[in-house]
Amino acid sequence: MQVLLANEYGFCFGVERAVEMVEEAIQAGQTVRALGPLIHNEQEMQRLAHEGVTTISQPVQIGRNETAVIRAHGVTPEVQRELEEKAAKVVDATCPFVTRVQKLAARAAEQDRHVVIVGSPDHPEMIGVKGYAPNHAFVIVDETEVAGLPRLRNPLVVAQTTIKAKTFFDTAEAIRSKTDDNVQIVNTICSATRDRQEAARALAGMVDAFYIIGGRHSSNSVKLLAVCKEQCAKSFLIETEDEINAADLIGVETVGVTAGASTPNWLIEKIVKHLEVLGREQNVGLKP
Ligand code: SF4
Repeated sequence: MQVLLANEYGFCFGVERAVEMVEEAIQAGQTVRALGPLIHNEQEMQRLAHEGVTTISQPVQIGRNETAVIRAHGVTPEVQRELEEKAAKVVDATCPFVTRVQKLAARAAEQDRHVVIVGSPDHPEMIGVKGYAPNHAFVIVDETEVAGLPRLRNPLVVAQTTIKAKTFFDTAEAIRSKTDDNVQIVNTICSATRDRQEAARALAGMVDAFYIIGGRHSSNSVKLLAVCKEQCAKSFLIETEDEINAADLIGVETVGVTAGASTPNWLIEKIVKHLEVLGREQNVGLKP
């Protein structure tokens, strides 16, 4: 049995960078506390907890001698200031793609322009970006919410980094009806999610079974499962190797593997090795 990995899988750039920054802080002997879960992966969170990383939900919980970590989603300027006042050190792991959106929003607000951000209002990334354009920003999910916007002044339209391009552009076009001014549309969508889906789709048509490694609550992992299922009926979302049922691999010659953007490499390698062992055992079992 052959195990094939998709061309793009696992940690995106922003998550990998955040984990590396945390590792550096640990190695420097700091007491590290992340504001909110650093990563949506149970196994990686357990590994980091083992290294001493704990999570806080409010800046007020940070201690004078501790290092606060801002995760890849970023935070509002107020939250950043509060952490800087209270913590011994702040590790700002905001993904540079998110920082770009924050800067665009801040600049537009300074020019007294409205900012419309297409995304989920409750998502931490959106709460952070909105904080960079106080009293100037609106977060809307899609074009159905455009009608609820007021008349807009020289609006800038940007996107949550992980939304679908069609949602963004349809919404941005609809926003033109809300102003007589020029609408500046800046596509701030990051390609990480799309790249993983395209690579999984390409591989799923060539294999007999597919394993997607990721958290059941990770939306990008769940989407990867849906994409693979379109091409390969035997597609499974798993968090660990214990969830692989050897019976599903009977008669399977090629297995595809991909992983969500929050799945660490060590876990992917462990599961690939396990699949290879199962494949070898299966071959032995098939011998007359
Ligand atoms: S999905 Fe994109 S924007 Fe979000 S953390 Fe990863 S690289 Fe950054």
